[in-house]
Amino acid sequence: MDKQAVRKDLERILDARRVLMEPEDLVSFRNDAYPYRAQPDAAVMVTTVEEIQNLVRYAEKHEIPLVPRAAATDLAGACAPVTGGIVVDLKLMDKILEIDKGNLTATVECGVVNMTLRQAVEAIGLYYPPDPASYTVSTLGGNVATRAGGPGCVKYGTTEDYLRGLEAVVGGGEVISSGGKTAKYSSGYDLHHLFAGSEGTLGFITKCTFKLIPKPETKKTMLAIFKTIDDAANAVSAIIARGITPVTLELIDIVTAQCVEAWKPCGLPTDKDGILLIEVDGDAERVEKEAKQIEEVCKEMGAESFETAQTQAEAETLMAGRRSAFAAFAQQYPTVVVEDITVPRTMIPEVVRRCRESLEKYQLVGTVMGHAGDGNMHPNIMCDINNHEEMVRVEACLAEMAKHGLELGGTVSGEHGIGIAKSRYFPWEHSESTRRIMMGIKDVFDPKGIFNPTKIFVEGGELV
Ligand SMILES: Cc1cc2nc3c(=O)[nH]c(=O)nc-3n(C[C@H](O)[C@H](O)[C@H](O)COP(=O)(O)OP(=O)(O)OC[C@H]3O[C@@H](n4cnc5c(N)ncnc54)[C@H](O)[C@@H]3O)c2cc1C
Repeated sequence: MDKQAVRKDLERILDARRVLMEPEDLVSFRNDAYPYRAQPDAAVMVTTVEEIQNLVRYAEKHEIPLVPRAAATDLAGACAPVTGGIVVDLKLMDKILEIDKGNLTATVECGVVNMTLRQAVEAIGLYYPPDPASYTVSTLGGNVATRAGGPGCVKYGTTEDYLRGLEAVVGGGEVISSGGKTAKYSSGYDLHHLFAGSEGTLGFITKCTFKLIPKPETKKTMLAIFKTIDDAANAVSAIIARGITPVTLELIDIVTAQCVEAWKPCGLPTDKDGILLIEVDGDAERVEKEAKQIEEVCKEMGAESFETAQTQAEAETLMAGRRSAFAAFAQQYPTVVVEDITVPRTMIPEVVRRCRESLEKYQLVGTVMGHAGDGNMHPNIMCDINNHEEMVRVEACLAEMAKHGLELGGTVSGEHGIGIAKSRYFPWEHSESTRRIMMGIKDVFDPKGIFNPTKIFVEGGELV
């Protein structure tokens, strides 16, 4: 690649101040929240659909990879420019275009931060439920591209359940749109949901329309404390089996509680191995009833104590503490690698037990915590990427955990996506025929193969 020529070309497409090509400017575009780095040739910040169209046409002509990137909170390495090329930063496309109270929809540009939309709709009595723990920084385009979930998705579902339609730039620089504001849609293939979880491999999502719901009247936040993680995991299955659907049902183990309390104290006990953080919402009567039922189940399952947040501030502190878990680990350890295996909910106790055994077998420090209410566990391994011998054990442990998830009828990723972190496990979950169809779909959207190459389908990305 003739860098000077590329710079000149890019500066014809975009304002020169939004074209970065100096090595020192590119340092922060090498990776996301997964600890795998790769050097891009350039990074650009786009502001309009037209700029993206022109970039795509240019990149196709010169066979240059384009890597869509928003807040780069991805935990699977999907933003790493593995084969170089141009990282395309979408954060400046950040306008809320419309909140339609009559139709209960919001239409946004892709770079709008999740929290910005939540706050805007809550101000008028509406609610956008998907709440990845990164919601203060991650974008709605990124949330769609990874099919993000979050602590509050047990009752309400994840990003894809709120996606009503989108606009995207695909191969040839063409703009396509699918879906819209209607509550129902049966007009041909559901292309907008194809983009959910596409991780930038099909093109650029530029605009999204989401369903909104009325803001729940009231909410209760509770903490159930068990002697062991097994007891807490069994209580998760028991709550679900009883037909109660809390908004949030998070499992927190002792290592997580200790790290969070050391970083952002929120009142978690640091000497107990099984904590459930639970939220219920709705009208006051229903909230009271469900809270009582949950307390009964937890006590039946051996909870040593069951506390309810007395004020909204107390409740928010507890939730903020949980959301800060990844930052708390990163604060205390050089490297954190997050697994995302998801199993049918009855398998939660078994998957927790097996992941604990794997950590012990490979002599690694780790936690087994996560969105237990929807079967989504995040075993986190604390390590040091510069310690080769330790990273070999980390890779072996991650692979074993992925196998546990699949053996128990689950998936290797519930919400973070495949990226490069799990691409080597992808063939364990999907047959050759299934993968061939997925890759065929990519070819239709991306005939020149320039959109985020090496992600999902190409093995690699090991940390050793
Ligand atoms: C502290 C922390 C907590 C987290 N908690 C959660 C959680 O609870 N639940 C959860 O699901 N995830 C969580 N994540 C992971 C991450 O926040 C999500 O995957 C999030 O959806 C990524 O959004 P982003 O804006 O950062 O996208 P990025 O990381 O920038 O990009 C993610 C992927 O989407 C693609 N992409 C981004 N924007 C576009 C676009 N407009 N068009 C096409 N492709 C695009 C990128 O190429 C990449 O493949 C967490 C991460 C961190 C660091």
